[in-house]
Amino acid sequence: MPGAGDGTPTSYHIWTIGCQMNKADSDRLASALEQLGLRPAPTAQNADVVVFNSCVVRQSAEDKVVGALGMAKSLKRHRPERIVALMGCMVGPKKDALEARFGHVDVFMQPQQYAPLLELVGERLGVDYEGCIGPLTDVHADVTSYIPIIQGCDLFCSFCIIPYRRGRQVSRTLPDIVREAELLSARGVREVTLLGQTVDAYGHDLPGGDDLADLLYALNDVCGLERIRFLTSHPMYMSDRIIRAVAELPKVCEHINLPVQAGDDEVLSSMRRTYSADEYLSTIERIRSTVPGVALSTDLIVGFCGETEEAFEASYRLLEQVRFDKVHVAQYSTREGTIAHRTLTDDVPQEEKRRRLKAVDALQERVATEINERLLGETLEVLVEGRDKGKWRGRTRTDKLVFFEDAGDFHGKLARVRITKTSPWSLQGEPEAV
Ligand code: SF4
Repeated sequence: MPGAGDGTPTSYHIWTIGCQMNKADSDRLASALEQLGLRPAPTAQNADVVVFNSCVVRQSAEDKVVGALGMAKSLKRHRPERIVALMGCMVGPKKDALEARFGHVDVFMQPQQYAPLLELVGERLGVDYEGCIGPLTDVHADVTSYIPIIQGCDLFCSFCIIPYRRGRQVSRTLPDIVREAELLSARGVREVTLLGQTVDAYGHDLPGGDDLADLLYALNDVCGLERIRFLTSHPMYMSDRIIRAVAELPKVCEHINLPVQAGDDEVLSSMRRTYSADEYLSTIERIRSTVPGVALSTDLIVGFCGETEEAFEASYRLLEQVRFDKVHVAQYSTREGTIAHRTLTDDVPQEEKRRRLKAVDALQERVATEINERLLGETLEVLVEGRDKGKWRGRTRTDKLVFFEDAGDFHGKLARVRITKTSPWSLQGEPEAV
């Protein structure tokens, strides 16, 4: 699918790394490019427009972006008319340093700011791109899809670069989101995940006073939709209204991701997380006492600046006490431009960070083994998303991965699956006859 040879683009390829928000941004950009008539290309080599959607939350992610951009140099050399774009959190408001470092990149775009690329593609096509593009919904959505509902973040946790790259909190209007859910549902999507860096702060910046609970009630009425999830919450915004909505609404799944980041008050304070460990635990208690059978997951950083052995042990004890279904743990790595980089010392040795990470992983493996073992013999509702290595793959309402074998067609269906085998990471079972 080459271009016309005169620089007219006909195909695109988007390389994405990072969180679900980045994946959703890539899907929306794909929608815009397809509305301009471009078609997806399986690899960057085959594409006239190549976009790198970047993440810099951790050093390892940034290293991968730099590696991928290095590869793009030869793509550009090979076909100079090819458009190469860098998007996402690597692009801050000032682009001079990036432009000097990556001279082969034509366009730099901050998260969700698609206009510079669309303008260039529009110019090459000889059209006014704004007149050609309607609502941006995930064009390749199948059984599940993401809907970004709030962009940016107002909180400035000291370790985090996101507010500097994604800007301040901006919520979409409730009718706009419901309309998108209706469009997705009409295309066969059964489950939507509402996305935001602080998704439970949804609506706080809107004039009408709608919040995430109102949005969940509205989406629960969308015909054809079976399930609704939301990611990622901040403990400070987890209101009783939201918790009640999760408990009451049949389509809202009983799964909440509530990042704790640390279990020691001093570390929480230097992270600027706005709550103490006890306040976090009381929020967990509010959720558990209101939503029966709820699954909880969290994010934790080990080896943050000033994290002593005692402080780490406080985090470890909190994990033991709560017994999360899932823990996303990361070693702290300093990010230039953050408050921690400017004001704190990254003083936990690398080796010690690794040891703490391994200790958390081992604890979580044991906890998840025990939690999942209790599901043996139970029959669970599974939304089937696709096939992997000859088995159907789907998720329970509590976000557990389930595999089962069957000759029937379960794609996009809600199956009742009796669990016959468990591991810390997934479940296996047999579907009940329908
Ligand atoms: S809440 Fe904190 S960690 Fe989450 S995006 Fe905002 S600043 Fe970053």
